[in-house]
Amino acid sequence: MNRRTLLKNAGLLAAGAIGLPSFTHHPAQDIHNTGYFRFPFGDIELLIVTDGHGLFKPAQPVFAPGIPAPDFEAIQRANFLLPDAIDIAFNVLVVKTKKDIILFDTGCGASFGPASGRLPEGLRAAGISPDDVTAILLTHAHPDHVGGLLDKEGHPVFPRASLHIAAPEYDFWTGEKPDFSKSKFPDHTATTFWVQLATKGFAAYRDRLHVFHDGDQPFDGIRARIVPGHTPGHSLFTITSGSESITHMGDTAHDHVILLSHPEWGVGFDTDFIQAAQARRKMLEELAAGRHRIFSCHLPWPGLGHVRTRDKGFEWVVQPFATV
Ligand SMILES: [Zn+2]
Repeated sequence: MNRRTLLKNAGLLAAGAIGLPSFTHHPAQDIHNTGYFRFPFGDIELLIVTDGHGLFKPAQPVFAPGIPAPDFEAIQRANFLLPDAIDIAFNVLVVKTKKDIILFDTGCGASFGPASGRLPEGLRAAGISPDDVTAILLTHAHPDHVGGLLDKEGHPVFPRASLHIAAPEYDFWTGEKPDFSKSKFPDHTATTFWVQLATKGFAAYRDRLHVFHDGDQPFDGIRARIVPGHTPGHSLFTITSGSESITHMGDTAHDHVILLSHPEWGVGFDTDFIQAAQARRKMLEELAAGRHRIFSCHLPWPGLGHVRTRDKGFEWVVQPFATV
């Protein structure tokens, strides 16, 4: 795959990334629904709002770099998936309490092309104006998580929201020279774009930007856990209310088949490939052993379920829903 194709698949053609149709639509999934899913959760309410999706075709080498294609394709086929593509969801969790509307990440904005950037539309469909959002908690600062902080003109999309980010994550992206030498993502033009997007977003929210540390509770019932690897300050959050509990696992896994069955196969987006693989396995082991309910940004919409062990890896068990 040439460099342009690689960047295109990563949605990251640097200079022209904004507004570029980086992804082809996946016909089987290009269905326009309400864009949100709402359910009661203890004394509060949770919503999941879609920001869209991203089709990586071919999936390698961004996914499972260096793994022989036949091995990759065999697993995909066994799970009724396209052999050479991974279609990731962009799910955004929203916590609605009596006094706050809290977003976990902001989706892609204009950075990943027209199949994403739908978060504001989905929020409106759910009766939430961007002006109503009081806080944004970031799992990390990759483009598909901070791209929605700003509109195309560079103005904050959420004018009243405070922005909360892990201290090591903020330090990494705003540092003099963010170090991607331990990642398997080869293109510096792309990583330079990532840095620009993150720092521009932070700057626009600087008068209401807060950092948190491992174990902090930025809000009542929301505890942060910093698990470095995917990025230096990659954060998971456990949300509790009444007898309910759910873990937002951030980008612990980008797909529900390859990275769960083979956590060590990794993904080029990991800032520290080896540390991320170890962290992925450790977190999945914990989540499986604890039988924790999970929300995931990138697993199939709406990203709710559990993990359990299977063979030498894990498998995703989708939470069933009924509707009336
Ligand atoms: Zn992501």
